Amino acid sequence: MTPAAAGRRLLGAHTIENGGIHMAVRRAAGAGMSALQVFTAIPKFYGDKTSIKPERVERFRAALAEAGILPGHVVAHAAYVLNTATPDPAKWPRARDGLTKELERSTALGIGAVCFHPGAATDDDRDAALDRIAAAMTHALERVEGATRLLVENTAGAGRTMGRTPAEVAGILERIPVPLRARAGYGLDTCHLFASGFPIHESAAAQAAVLDDFERAAGERPGFFHLNDSEGALGSNRDRHALIGKGQIGEEPFRWLLHDPRSAGVPCILETPQENPAIADDDASADPWDAAMMGLLRDLAG
Ligand SMILES: [Zn+2]
Ligand SMILES: [Zn+2]
Repeated sequence: MTPAAAGRRLLGAHTIENGGIHMAVRRAAGAGMSALQVFTAIPKFYGDKTSIKPERVERFRAALAEAGILPGHVVAHAAYVLNTATPDPAKWPRARDGLTKELERSTALGIGAVCFHPGAATDDDRDAALDRIAAAMTHALERVEGATRLLVENTAGAGRTMGRTPAEVAGILERIPVPLRARAGYGLDTCHLFASGFPIHESAAAQAAVLDDFERAAGERPGFFHLNDSEGALGSNRDRHALIGKGQIGEEPFRWLLHDPRSAGVPCILETPQENPAIADDDASADPWDAAMMGLLRDLAG
């Protein structure tokens, strides 16, 4: 199948960023990707004071243009440490500000969406946690104007993490004020769905029913998909990604997903293991495992 035909789906990966995000773009181009995901700052820090330098924006945009990847087909993954659900009065404002700065950097880069993990209700009060997540999103959307959307990612469901079920995703989104609501949304990670106990592997119908439940509850379709197989079992709540076809979901469910109309027009991003994460900063070659996964996805989408 030609890359042009595969263009019916926006396929890509969270490519390796050694050397900068423009190098992540060049590595994506090398594997024929039409979408990709990046970090705009170091993901183990809050990044609540980190702005983006104009030179970095320039290099990134030039690399996208050269790769033929539209900025709107790029997703930024927010820092993992941002817990916008936390009841801790010292941590919550930093998480809120970190999310706001992430949206600011991503808007400067001109990319389509920021995805983030909503965090954990460490005090077990899940309703209050929904309020805090929505308040952090609202703060970010109010302060940063632009077209970049802010998307909640469903989680693997470990411990007290929020955003596992359709009702929780919908509960966050319905708390966003109406004028800002169009710039908020959600996306689904296949590994997280499976680890949370959703039977997306059973049959095409069972998988479609899961997507139906999210679509009905949220009132809209997902804004992205993360395509990851799962090392852990159904309902294990383990967030361990495996190469497509090498985990417990298996290859076929990805074929069903890539033929579901809901995967059209939105970034479908691999976050699967890579062969050479220590690649040299100036080496723009695609990761061999990313390239292999892209070949597989093109076949499955065809
Ligand atoms: Zn994620
Ligand atoms: Zn994950």
